[in-house]
Amino acid sequence: MLITDAPFLKPDLLEVVNLFEGAENLEIVHAAHAEGFYFFNRVTVNGRDYGYENEKSFSTPLENKRYFKRFAKLSVYKALSEYLGVSMPWGALTGIRPTKLAYTHGDGYEKFLTEEMLVSPKKVEVVKRIIGAQRGIYSTDTSNADFFVGIPFCPSRCAYCSFVSSEISKAKNLDLYVETLVREIEESKPIIKNLRSIYVGGGTPVSLPKPLLLRVLGAIGKNPGVEYTVEAGRPDCIDREVLSILKDFGVTRICVNPQTFNDVTLELLGRKHAASDVIEKFYLAKEFGFDINTDLIAGLTGENFGMFRYSLDKALSLRPENITVHTLCLKKGAKLKENTSRLSSGEVSEMVDYAFETLTAAGYEPYYLYRQKYMAGNLENTGYTLPGKACVYNIDIMEEIAQNVACGANAVSKAINENAETKIVRYGAPKDIKTYIEKIDEIIEEKRKLFL
Ligand code: SF4
Repeated sequence: MLITDAPFLKPDLLEVVNLFEGAENLEIVHAAHAEGFYFFNRVTVNGRDYGYENEKSFSTPLENKRYFKRFAKLSVYKALSEYLGVSMPWGALTGIRPTKLAYTHGDGYEKFLTEEMLVSPKKVEVVKRIIGAQRGIYSTDTSNADFFVGIPFCPSRCAYCSFVSSEISKAKNLDLYVETLVREIEESKPIIKNLRSIYVGGGTPVSLPKPLLLRVLGAIGKNPGVEYTVEAGRPDCIDREVLSILKDFGVTRICVNPQTFNDVTLELLGRKHAASDVIEKFYLAKEFGFDINTDLIAGLTGENFGMFRYSLDKALSLRPENITVHTLCLKKGAKLKENTSRLSSGEVSEMVDYAFETLTAAGYEPYYLYRQKYMAGNLENTGYTLPGKACVYNIDIMEEIAQNVACGANAVSKAINENAETKIVRYGAPKDIKTYIEKIDEIIEEKRKLFL
């Protein structure tokens, strides 16, 4: 239970409390006040008192407000860390984009992360390497745009999935969805000034019947020289014909996602394929010359460190251009959530550390990362790349440095204007397919206004 005399900060302080397993059952009382450039916070945890004083100069009321919040969160973090005798890998950071935050501190980001936010040296090192790997790709030219197309259908639903993707065999209005999407794509293309990348995802686009897939790819068109990714996530949807269609339309990168190479876990996840199918389809895709990303998940239910190590080593033996290591995150909507207890932070952390050490030793670099709420061990998802193969789309999305023109149900467009008071403005299309189809005129109009 948390009581604070700054109720407007309660949601932020609760985010900090939730970093610590079981802390929601402690009695936490927080009080804050500021005098000039001095910020005072007092925290009592189950009757034990902690006091903190910070000095920070500011020149605008907005900055003042920002520091008031930052020191309040830090005080709750420090008090809980001291009371429970544990510290978190990302310290008091609760946001999902640590590298974006680091960029805002220029050359002083290491000092800020380490000394102010108490991020562990290991995670500061990851941030440092990511910033290094993004050199030459990171660009704040806001005429840049990425193009996202969402196909929210999959062959079956994975137990850990919290996307709005639904089983394609049960989808009503599939033809109508594709026709509506094609219209939105055609209306959206003129918005784009400087196209950096195309990403077709949202589910498993290659699960569409081939004539419908051809309609979507035909509407997107061929864009020579532009990075073009299609989620081909599930091996049960990959065959020679689909790969050759993707190749014809200029797709450069596909995702073939094992998540784990342990068959027993795949079955538990409802994936309806074996690990050997992933390997077979991976080599088939390689014949077509695609760059390939493979996703793995650390902390899957029923998996121990040895099982994760086996999957990571197996993925590495395929030598894909990109390997993304996710940490299990069970949000609302995931079937697995009901029966799952969190793995201990230590075990998941061991998996994530093993991935970092093994992949960097094998010539991969971490090149983007993001965090989510409810992540096992309060860790992160990290994309690794072979030199020169970093996915521009992932960097642009995570660092929020380019416009995102997004089409499809539940697709979120993002307009970025560095000079405006609100730098990032979003527009999210309805999640529900029927509503998306019905409201398409309104959606197109809202997007046009967003990017005016
Ligand atoms: S393939 Fe991806 S989007 Fe589809 S159900 Fe599985 S996790 Fe969800």
